Order: sequence, then structure tokens, then C-alpha cells
Amino acid sequence: MLVSTTRLLGRGRILLRYPFKRICINMSSSSTSGKRLRVLVDMDGVLADFEGGFLNKYRARYPEEPYIALEDRRGFWVSAQYGQLRSDLCAKAISIWESKDFFIDLEPLPGGVEAVKEMAKMDDTDVFICTSPIKNYRHCPHEKYAWVEKHLGYDFLEQVILTRDKTLVTGDLLIDDKPDILGVEPKPTWEHILFTACHNKHLPVSSSQRRLLSWSDDWRAILDSKRQ
Ligand SMILES: [Mg+2]
Repeated sequence: MLVSTTRLLGRGRILLRYPFKRICINMSSSSTSGKRLRVLVDMDGVLADFEGGFLNKYRARYPEEPYIALEDRRGFWVSAQYGQLRSDLCAKAISIWESKDFFIDLEPLPGGVEAVKEMAKMDDTDVFICTSPIKNYRHCPHEKYAWVEKHLGYDFLEQVILTRDKTLVTGDLLIDDKPDILGVEPKPTWEHILFTACHNKHLPVSSSQRRLLSWSDDWRAILDSKRQ
């Protein structure tokens, strides 16, 4: 009995840290409106430097092969542009992010981790990391969790959503560098904020779409614009 109680307390101590924050906030300042803001933040290309990490490892592994400088990147899919450069380079590109330690070694993009930590402390705000693992699951899902633990801390693992279809996740905002986020839900609840990256900076943004140019841009104003 003592053992099981200890186990329960131990587990609760870990799991309840963020819910405890929510309870406190709900009892105090929360909510004139009663509505909490839910922010979904993508990982690759928004918090983690996928493009820079890819190029470094590609050039190290294939020093004799042609490569695409970051300023020449076009289109979301790195492997597609490398395949256009030369057909066999598509598989070589894929081999980079399917390798062990690719995702855990990605450097944080400037200001991203700090912004997410600040968001998580804001009143009436819940922030989740919403990220799509690659289908070759040998290393990627594990390393995505490990990256969050390394840069945001163990407790933030509660806030991780791994999904191949972000349209199914409900939220007020999705900050993501992928220009078209499609899935089975035709009308996602979130507003997609396009996070500027080397591959999308040349794209025109439709009148209904907003951009976040970097984490130095005014992300706080975007959050405030969605509050009731
Ligand atoms: Mg991304």
C-alpha cells in the first residue's frame, strides 16, 4: 500500500506541475472572458534549425556532391529540390534526416525557446509543441522528445503533440513554416501564422494569412490579437 501510494505521489508530482499552474491561474486572474488562448508551435523550421542542420550534415557526408545554399532553397520539401538538381540526390538528402542524431543535434533557432518559455508563463495561455515526425520512426520521434527535454525541460514533455495531421488538433494559433497545412479536417480551428523560413520567404502571403518573420518579430501582438 505504501509503495503504491508513493508511486502515485511520485507520478502526480511530475504530471501535475502544469495542470497546477492552470488551476491557480483559473482561480485568480483568469478570466474575465473565461477563454484561454491555445498556441500550437511547430518544431522544425520554427524552433529547431532543420534547414541549417540538414545542410551541414549533407555537406559533411557528401562533400563531393552539389548542394543548395539556404538562400537558393525553394519549396517546403528539401528532398524534392535536391531531386530536381539530380535525381539520385533525393535519396541522399533523405538519408540525412533519417540518420541517428539528426533531430537531436538541431540547433535552436534564435529566440524560439525563449519565446515558448515566455508564452507558457503568460496568463490564460496554453502552449503546445505540435510537430510531425517523419514516417521512418527509428530515431525521429524519440529525438524530438529528447530535443524538447534538452531545450525546454522535462516538464515541457507534457506539451508535446506528435501528429502527421495538424488539422485534427484544436487551437487558436498554429505557428508553422509549412505554407500549406492540409489534412482530413477542411476547417481547422487554428489560424495558421506562417513562420518565415529560407524556403518560404519568397512566397506571397494571401490577404487572409499573417506571417511571423522571426522570433524577433512581434509574436506577442499576434497572441494578443486572438484574445477575446
Ligand atoms: Mg516546420
